[in-house]
Amino acid sequence: MSESGNLAYELYKAVWTALDWLFPPRCGGCGAAGKRWCADCQSSVRVIKPPICDHCGQPQSRNELCARCQGSPYSFVALRSWAVFGGPLREALHRLKYRRDVALSEALAIPLMQTLKSLAWPVDLVTPVPLGLARLAERGYNQSALLARPVALGCKLEYQPQALQRVRETRSQVGLTAKLRRENVAGAFQASSEIVVNKTVLVIDDVATSGSTLDACASALLGAGAHQVFGLTLARAVQPEKTNHAEIEPLVDV
Ligand SMILES: [Zn+2]
Ligand SMILES: [Zn+2]
Repeated sequence: MSESGNLAYELYKAVWTALDWLFPPRCGGCGAAGKRWCADCQSSVRVIKPPICDHCGQPQSRNELCARCQGSPYSFVALRSWAVFGGPLREALHRLKYRRDVALSEALAIPLMQTLKSLAWPVDLVTPVPLGLARLAERGYNQSALLARPVALGCKLEYQPQALQRVRETRSQVGLTAKLRRENVAGAFQASSEIVVNKTVLVIDDVATSGSTLDACASALLGAGAHQVFGLTLARAVQPEKTNHAEIEPLVDV
């Protein structure tokens, strides 16, 4: 899946390059002038590498199923994330989500695309975790869709933003335990059979914490006839005891 000869993605990039010329950007991680995501912020990101749980992708001390997945596996085949949620990546995701810094998504989609290519999953179509209509109207855009679209374009995969709908507004997952997070999003999504039947679907989100949102999306997709579901997020909120990295940010939403 080469990025060259991919006209749709080249056009997408060209629009942002033109906008950068008109409005010189600042880094979404640290505010430095010149780039939307600078080399310093990129090098400070803690990329997630094995050992991880083979199913949910949570960093841990061994390459085996984590205790949570041994007890009750998720509906998706696997969930993976590019990097640990913290530092400049946390700042960048906050800007993307709440400060309308939508151009950042082009820069942040690149590592997500590279992560997906390295996984070689047999994906038929890509869809973002949807926002509810009220929240979409309030924010004006879905930050997960801003990441999912360039990833689909760059990997030459079908992009289907209507595959999932959020049929119930959910409260913020901030501060909820894993069990409450699961209850909070249960039944919150509906999938379109017409779009997903017999398809292998990749669901993209900005951050995963407990995996419960992607699990609820996967349940809805499988219920609508999808063949299988994979999950991919840019960042992963990681519990300090599950990683060797120092200075992990607390488990909070962006
Ligand atoms: Zn920076
Ligand atoms: Zn696991």
